[in-house]
Amino acid sequence: MRSHLLNDTTAEQYRRSVTEGVERVAAKIAATERPFTGVTVDALAPRIDGIDLDQPLYDTTAVLDELEEVYFRDAIYFHHPRYLAHLNCPVVIPAVLGEAVLSAVNSSLDTWDQSAGGTLIERKLIDWTTARIGLGPAADGVFTSGGTQSNLQALLLAREEAKPGRDGLEGPASLARLRIFASEVSHFSVKKSAKLLGLGEDAVVSVPVDTDKRMQTLALARELERCVTAGLIPMAVVATAGTTDFGSIDPLPEIAELCERYGTWMHVDAAYGCGLLASVRHRDRIDGIERADSVTVDYHKSFFQPVSSSAVLVRDAATLRHATYHAEYLNPRRMVQERIPNQVDKSLQTTRRFDALKLWMTLRTMGADGIGRLFDEVCDLAAEGWRLLAADPRFDVVVEPSLSTLVFRCIPAAVTDPAEIDRANLYARKALFASGDAVVAGTKVGARQYLKFTLLNPETTTDDIAAVLDLIAGHAEQYLGESLDRAS
Ligand SMILES: *Cc1c(COP(=O)(O)O)cnc(C)c1O
Repeated sequence: MRSHLLNDTTAEQYRRSVTEGVERVAAKIAATERPFTGVTVDALAPRIDGIDLDQPLYDTTAVLDELEEVYFRDAIYFHHPRYLAHLNCPVVIPAVLGEAVLSAVNSSLDTWDQSAGGTLIERKLIDWTTARIGLGPAADGVFTSGGTQSNLQALLLAREEAKPGRDGLEGPASLARLRIFASEVSHFSVKKSAKLLGLGEDAVVSVPVDTDKRMQTLALARELERCVTAGLIPMAVVATAGTTDFGSIDPLPEIAELCERYGTWMHVDAAYGCGLLASVRHRDRIDGIERADSVTVDYHKSFFQPVSSSAVLVRDAATLRHATYHAEYLNPRRMVQERIPNQVDKSLQTTRRFDALKLWMTLRTMGADGIGRLFDEVCDLAAEGWRLLAADPRFDVVVEPSLSTLVFRCIPAAVTDPAEIDRANLYARKALFASGDAVVAGTKVGARQYLKFTLLNPETTTDDIAAVLDLIAGHAEQYLGESLDRAS
């Protein structure tokens, strides 16, 4: 069994084994005709249940054959131009190469003595990102597992900075006075973070959005004033730069003004919109982000990186101390004096993947402009998709995109009952998924059921969009036809 350990004596087997796996994936990707087979849970589950993990196959080829049955065949393939659903991007090859390297070398980025150059590479990428944002000379940050963790860490820092201990109130009672302001279409991880941070039920104040799904700053100003008047503490404003559903970007400069006036931490959740940091043509859409106290970026959304690759960035490196704990076995205090860089001092995680390597390989191979151009292409594609939808009487489209999502619904001419329209759209989404021809997402706008395209694949064309819209309309019509049959 030692022959399976990767070391000096097994390097050749490592090469053979990984190459065999890579060959399978390459063949699969080359031959994928649809983003999904449409397999159901009921069909797939028995195949996985049927495998006895205590009866190994002892053979890589056999394991890969089995994997075809339980995974490859029915996986969701994001590289396919008709995968249009979630914020999961097709990945660039330099990053996939980085992934293979980082797991084989297996650096852990918690301490210098488990990573060496890895730590310095990560730091350089953090500096690169903070410079792109414009956070200034004292900025810092750390890679995280995703936007959810980045938001949690940012809000932890904001909470510690805002702690009301100064007026003598300590403990849970004082935490109950903290308020976070985020738009009604902000990401649910804001609420989840508030809960994890021990804030009260009402901690997150939901600020209404305008017709373009951007936070209404007049409403924010009102809520901040109300908060202070009630003796509560405005702990943070979370501005979303690219909402998950609409790609809408909150008015960052106005929000920055209000944060300054109220002494409130400004967090920009740019998990999605961070792609604009590399954009060649649309960088101005996130102007104002440089005024943030903290920023969330998800390279695994708009930098074409494999899951996971994300970071939290802060204006003032000193605020990261709120996540610092020392252990004698790992990162003793004296190491700070010795200037040994231990990234664990800044992270919520301890053992941590060298995800930064993927971005490094990408920037060194393609350059930032290479990434930015790909993201610009999908933004342009969304703009074209919007024109298609706006001109098509079969559909209602919600907002003109600032990034690369389109939220729309089918409105069959003969139907006026809103609930029936909801059901037709829900049916169309499910039927499309079951067919495997395309994958689209769904969401609600108000109480109504909508559909969503998240366009992250530069290989998707307007023809693909038009074809998928026809499929959706077809499924919706079919539902209504059957619905009439049921009624008669
Ligand atoms: C996706 C997303 C998140 C969560 O990021 P994960 O990487 O999925 O944890 C947070 N905020 C916004 C706006 C997002 O789109």
